[in-house]
Amino acid sequence: MSEIPTAPPSGFRDFLPDSCARRARVVETISRVYRSYGFAPIATPAVEDLAVLTGKGVGETEKLIFKILKRGEKLDISRGSEELADLGLRFDLTLPLARFYSRLRGVLPTPFKAFAIGPVWRAERAQKGRYREFCQCDADILGSDSPHCEIEVIQAVMSVFRALGLEAPTVVLNDRRILSALLDHWQVPVDRHAAIFIAVDKLDKAGANAVLMDLGKLCGPNPPSELVNFIHGGQADPALLVRVAPEPMSRLTQIRDTLAQLSDSYGSFVISPTLVRGFDYYTGPVFEFRDPRLAGSLGGGGRYDGLTEKFGGPKTPACGVSIGFERLMLVLEESSAQETPGPDACLTVFSEELRLDSLRLAARLRAEGLSVDVYPGAGKLKAQFKYADSRRARLALVLGPEEEAAGKVKAKDLATGQESLVDFAALVAALKRPGPER
Ligand code: AMP
Repeated sequence: MSEIPTAPPSGFRDFLPDSCARRARVVETISRVYRSYGFAPIATPAVEDLAVLTGKGVGETEKLIFKILKRGEKLDISRGSEELADLGLRFDLTLPLARFYSRLRGVLPTPFKAFAIGPVWRAERAQKGRYREFCQCDADILGSDSPHCEIEVIQAVMSVFRALGLEAPTVVLNDRRILSALLDHWQVPVDRHAAIFIAVDKLDKAGANAVLMDLGKLCGPNPPSELVNFIHGGQADPALLVRVAPEPMSRLTQIRDTLAQLSDSYGSFVISPTLVRGFDYYTGPVFEFRDPRLAGSLGGGGRYDGLTEKFGGPKTPACGVSIGFERLMLVLEESSAQETPGPDACLTVFSEELRLDSLRLAARLRAEGLSVDVYPGAGKLKAQFKYADSRRARLALVLGPEEEAAGKVKAKDLATGQESLVDFAALVAALKRPGPER
């Protein structure tokens, strides 16, 4: 009989308690900062109808959808993939938000500011920082076309990075319409633009030569020399950009300059006409957060006016940002390797007769706002102390017959080994005193 593997599938991960605790703390910080900007939390399901996830606007990511086989029916493979699967796992939080907004707009404020944090799934080739299951943390504003939205979502993400003590990242800004206008200017036929966008999107990962090879296939052996120079240099003459795409450039410049004024010198903001971003639901400015320690981006976003139209209803301007949580955790783990503190106290169980007393004492301590772990079993006190050590608790507590009779608790400081007999009030006071960094 073949053995069942204990490792999760490629691109999926198990998390130890320490890692879960660190992740939860970062999620708390992100939620707190998003709330402080007025974003309200929402949640959508992991599974969506395939019609929500596919079609115009999704770009290359459509190939990465995990589809879910229809349930309960006998599968008839000859009937093609649409017949086999009708649902899929969400691969981002933006399409689910657009569906959510289209359905519930009647009960939502206008403009609507929302944030969502949760896992998404993409059938990618897994590597460090690129997983098949990963968490995204999005903040979006629907119902306003003001550049205020781009500024605010970018500012919110910068505040998250600052709250986490991260080195300031670079924010790269662009507008796909600028690249389109450049291609028009260089007389590249419109029907090649989409394919060229896909090629240029790989510039960071694959480098200029690989992109030029792709362009050779798309534009024939002699692509316009201006396009070749542009790919090599990654920049174009700013005066040319303003001439070919005046409105997008004016908006981008306003966004960049306002962010620079508000940033308190935290982070830099640069316009780069080669930034494309994978999804073609973007209709205006797009942006990405870069950290020099990472190959990919720490997060990104953009304006996606009209995505809600896909679900019927009026066209709604919208703009959002997504923090790539896994990349953020990688950067944070590189900058500090802090251990997660355990509970305030571990309470031993002296005997089955005294278990109820230990559970009562734990409930009274929790009511004081303290965290208490009662030994989940029975056994020698030595083993229970060892457990308290492994949980990195501050105090190990013993409530035996003598302590019970005296109305006291024995408290052992696990850092110093010092033991003392204390009453409830003194115990609470000791646990509430700020202790050494744990
Ligand atoms: P996207 O939804 O593609 O715009 O990506 C937003 C952010 O999610 C990126 O900036 C990355 O930080 C992160 N991200 C995208 N794909 C992956 C992946 N496969 N694994 C981990 N993080 C990812």
